[in-house]
Amino acid sequence: AHLARIEAVDEKVHAFLHVDREGALAAARRVDEKRERGEKLGPLAGVPLALKDIFTTEGVPTTVGSKILEGWIPPYDATVTRRLKEADVVILGKTNMDEFAMGSSTENSAYGPTGNPWDLTRIPGGSGGGSSAALASFQAPLAIGTDTGGSIRQPAAVTATVGVKPTYGGVSRYGMVAFSSSLDQGGPCARTVLDAALLHEAIAGHDAMDSTSIDAAVPQVVAAAREGREGGVGGMRVGVVKEFAGEGYQAGVMQRFEESVELLRELGAEIVEISCPSFTKALAAYYLIAPSECSSNLARFDAMRYGLRVGDDGTRSAEDVTALTREAGFGDEVKRRVMLGTYALSSGYYDAYYGSAQKVRTLITRDFERAFESVDVLVSPTTPTTAFPIGERADDPMAMYLADLCTIPSNLAGNAAMSLPCGLAPEDGLPVGLQIIAPAMADDRLYRVGAAVE
Ligand code: GLN
Repeated sequence: AHLARIEAVDEKVHAFLHVDREGALAAARRVDEKRERGEKLGPLAGVPLALKDIFTTEGVPTTVGSKILEGWIPPYDATVTRRLKEADVVILGKTNMDEFAMGSSTENSAYGPTGNPWDLTRIPGGSGGGSSAALASFQAPLAIGTDTGGSIRQPAAVTATVGVKPTYGGVSRYGMVAFSSSLDQGGPCARTVLDAALLHEAIAGHDAMDSTSIDAAVPQVVAAAREGREGGVGGMRVGVVKEFAGEGYQAGVMQRFEESVELLRELGAEIVEISCPSFTKALAAYYLIAPSECSSNLARFDAMRYGLRVGDDGTRSAEDVTALTREAGFGDEVKRRVMLGTYALSSGYYDAYYGSAQKVRTLITRDFERAFESVDVLVSPTTPTTAFPIGERADDPMAMYLADLCTIPSNLAGNAAMSLPCGLAPEDGLPVGLQIIAPAMADDRLYRVGAAVE
């Protein structure tokens, strides 16, 4: 049924870069056979899923939305891919994304944009716009995204779906193409909080193949979602971040957000206003740290190891072939970031730029620590505005970067955060997202609060 749905609507939505029809049918058949043989089935047996094209999939193309990896077929599965298979999930295909996950609209994909199913002339968020659009257009009930600065939560917000950035280190990065390694985190996307929780538990947990993977028990997010549905949020302390309001925030977004806060109060939560002054510097710090790490990570795309190779006609040096390939294979945003990062890391500038950004990162972490001394979770709008029209911010990187104003602090601090739908903005009828933020390794609190207000 989902393959038929993809065939019927994806020409318009363009959520998928690659539909693995044969692979999906074979996986579904294997589940049937297991069932017939009376074998134990995985926790998500037979449930179809859309996988962001940043995770390697053995034998199935993986492009990261870039021409530089066009035609590359990975010889191995990412840990997330492997765990999905072990859970007996049926992977439908790979979803569209901003090239190397750099963007907030999916317009930076080398393979063309994805439409927002609520209004196809608008962006579905980014970088994981393919995954959010697949959910919102009922092409898949579950999806996987990655969140370096908001790429799970912002697409969820603008498509009225649920997206979770787990605690950094909660989900393995092995086989997830690296953008900014100290920020990158894979996580679950779904249409309900409980669905997201079921997927979260299937993919999370320690992995020896990822040196930053946390070696501790996975937070009990499914139990927490059930508890939130039944027991609500009585006795919980919820902080409203003062800095996430004011200029640049759409009136209808703030209206829906304030209603959600009222709902939390009615459900028994204690509401506290919290100030996190360093959050106003988060965007600036992020746009030094993320490009710096990206300039280092993307050095591996040298035309020798994977994918595209341009100009290798026997007359050119390896260095020239590398340069020609990177010139042809990377898009404008990727080049902008590689240049910014190379500059910020160069000797003489390192302390002034990268060093300062790392200090701001510490201040942001301290703001969170201080906040979580007096509250259990923080809440804010996920994004300052609803989905903007395709093309509107394409030539203005600063305007694009502002879409992640509220999501970036959690990546810098490494804690857990969720976006879930909280209604439609009255002025444009488009979805608004509520963001919930919890301390590191307290991902279960997101699910409890999310399920209560859903
Ligand atoms: N939009 C942000 C960026 O362009 C975040 C991307 C992400 O989370 N992958 O870097």
